[in-house]
Amino acid sequence: MMQIEPYRLRLRQPIREIEERRGFVVLLREGDLLGRGEACILPGTESLEEAEVALRTGRLDRAPAARHALELAQLDLQAQRKGVPLARLLDPRAPLEVPSSALLVARTVPELAREARQAAADGFRTVKLKVGGDDDFALAAVVRDAVGPEVALRLDANGAWDATLALERLSELAPLDIELCEQPTPDLLGLESSPIPIAADEMVARDPAAAMEHAQIIVLKPMLLGGVLAAWELAQRAMQRGLRVIVTTALDGAIGRAAAAHLAAAVLAHGPQPAAGLATGRLLIDDLCPDALAPRDGIVRIPDVPGLGLS
Ligand SMILES: [Mg+2]
Repeated sequence: MMQIEPYRLRLRQPIREIEERRGFVVLLREGDLLGRGEACILPGTESLEEAEVALRTGRLDRAPAARHALELAQLDLQAQRKGVPLARLLDPRAPLEVPSSALLVARTVPELAREARQAAADGFRTVKLKVGGDDDFALAAVVRDAVGPEVALRLDANGAWDATLALERLSELAPLDIELCEQPTPDLLGLESSPIPIAADEMVARDPAAAMEHAQIIVLKPMLLGGVLAAWELAQRAMQRGLRVIVTTALDGAIGRAAAAHLAAAVLAHGPQPAAGLATGRLLIDDLCPDALAPRDGIVRIPDVPGLGLS
């Protein structure tokens, strides 16, 4: 029996003009077992109405978040029936600890310095800064100074630059010892001489083949890719090509974040990867359920219980 429950979660502060997250929790009951899935809607991919119609009719091909939700509820049930955490349904060798990065969201220099210092003090070994404005170097320098030389500093331009500007900016930023830059330009063409490793993010859902051709790292968001299994398939293809993989949430609720954590753990069974992007629960005021997978010391510990491990 399937239940579909709408939700709305407020963000502590807007992130790229997103002020709240809305979507649906999908519950599947089978005997005593409860499988949970989440469809967290990112405006521009599918609307709330489209997701709900897709869930109710089962026509999921153009509704990636809805497909993610239904599939996840089924996977959660399947893992519970097998008596394993979801990560080990995907790969029996999956570790249950996943290092995660902290996304910095402060918008003034003093706040950013404080936030970065706090992230390092909380044990995060990787922090991520959004770039693409006029003061990228100053902001990144503040973060580097705040976290010290041992913490990896990752940038994300969300496609803000063209190739010429990207190469210019990345060359300026490189002396700050940058781990990688996500999506410097929309298509990643012409960046071969970048001094900073390039990651594909937004373009992965659009054109995974091009993403794998032009990036050294690919960012996988199961919520945007139509589910954990589609993302897992892409992860395996990428790793076969020698690319590294970063699994991240799309600012999902606790159920979607748990799914991303399990996928990230399965990926780690194939070798070390850059820190996953799982520490986004702290950006929300509300949540769907208690967050059993919140990072501690920068590490998400997946409960060694069947299914998603949420209470
Ligand atoms: Mg990104």
